[in-house]
Amino acid sequence: MDCIFCKIISGNIPSYKVYEDENVLAFLDINPVNAGHTLVIPKKHFASIENISQEDLSEVIKIVKKIGKAIKRGLKVQGYNVMMNNGFVAGQIVPHIHFHLVPRIVNDGLKLWPQGKYGEGKANVILKKIKSAF
Ligand code: AMP
Ligand code: ZN
Repeated sequence: MDCIFCKIISGNIPSYKVYEDENVLAFLDINPVNAGHTLVIPKKHFASIENISQEDLSEVIKIVKKIGKAIKRGLKVQGYNVMMNNGFVAGQIVPHIHFHLVPRIVNDGLKLWPQGKYGEGKANVILKKIKSAF
């Protein structure tokens, strides 16, 4: 499979490995938002969070928690963002699911997405659409 993260898992592409076990790999993002920006991935290839089994996802999330704690303690930061892009439109470039852990530093200047407000009646319309698709 022509997947850059599968190649990192197999060792064909080098990476700065933060953590590895039977199911999960964590490594430094090559283009960090802040130093210590880490990606946590399942070793099995899944394109989207919708495809991964509960068991596999829980293995990954367990390590997200572990790395988050290590980032805080090791880098002496007070917080970090956990983010996953799902789908090209959402900014997912690599189609092998991954959680981004981005250490945050006071006044680092990063801005998350801008937020808006629902117009009259709009929240209920949206709610109906989502709930009808379960
Ligand atoms: P996304 O846009 O959510 O798909 O994120 C993909 C991330 O993978 C980006 O932040 C890239 O900087 C990172 N990335 C791409 N290639 C590599 C690589 N060889 N080693 C480490 N990180 C990489
Ligand atoms: Zn892959």
